[in-house]
Amino acid sequence: MTDAIRPLIAGNWKMNGLRAQAAEFDAMLDGAAEATGKADLLVCPPATLIAAFADKARGKKVAVGAQDCHPKASGAHTGDIAAELLVDAGASAIIVGHSERRADHCEDDALIRQKAEAAWRAGATAIVCIGETQAQRDAGQTLEILRGQLAGSLPESSTAANLVVAYEPVWAIGTGLTPTTQDVEQIHGFIREFLTSRFKADGARMRILYGGSVKPSNAAELMAVKNVNGALVGGASLKAADFLAIAKGC
Ligand code: PGA
Repeated sequence: MTDAIRPLIAGNWKMNGLRAQAAEFDAMLDGAAEATGKADLLVCPPATLIAAFADKARGKKVAVGAQDCHPKASGAHTGDIAAELLVDAGASAIIVGHSERRADHCEDDALIRQKAEAAWRAGATAIVCIGETQAQRDAGQTLEILRGQLAGSLPESSTAANLVVAYEPVWAIGTGLTPTTQDVEQIHGFIREFLTSRFKADGARMRILYGGSVKPSNAAELMAVKNVNGALVGGASLKAADFLAIAKGC
């Protein structure tokens, strides 16, 4: 890690995690003290497990987060979950704008910005995801796409304390493919420039996570890249041994 920003290793369990698999989370709690020497740890289980995990994690070195929220605080929105409900259950951070939600639920930048603001309203940190698709990358549009997503998804009052940006190339998610470290450095440098020009000193201190096929064997190399301040980990966050190994590699 080349920056003074303390890294965050965030696990995104996506739509996985039966109560029977909670033992993996117990193992993460057991190993966390050793793994958090260099990085903070956050696990975002499905909403059904947030309260149980948050209860277990009290006083331990793993924070619990959520994967999405509704922009409104309460009301007639069947099946949706407000940030207030997630925070009440024990979430301290909420992922918004993950590419799977952008694609599966047609979420656009304006909605994602509202969701980030909803996370703050409830008292949680927002982790805003951005990333280009394979087709956009092939067309040479990566930076233009990221600029548009950053401009549209990040609320005006973003600070280093309330906002984390996660760069996740869509083509790298769950595929085993990762960009070269040169590409990661270029793109994270571009994101840093955007953040500092828009949010000044706060932008210089915001965490920029890399996500997409992070695993123990590539984590140390990726985490050593300038302006990479941690990882958003999907598949490898389901196993305590892998997740802790990634954190130790920071
Ligand atoms: P992956 O997912 O680590 O399984 O590629 C990352 C993510 O979607 O957050």
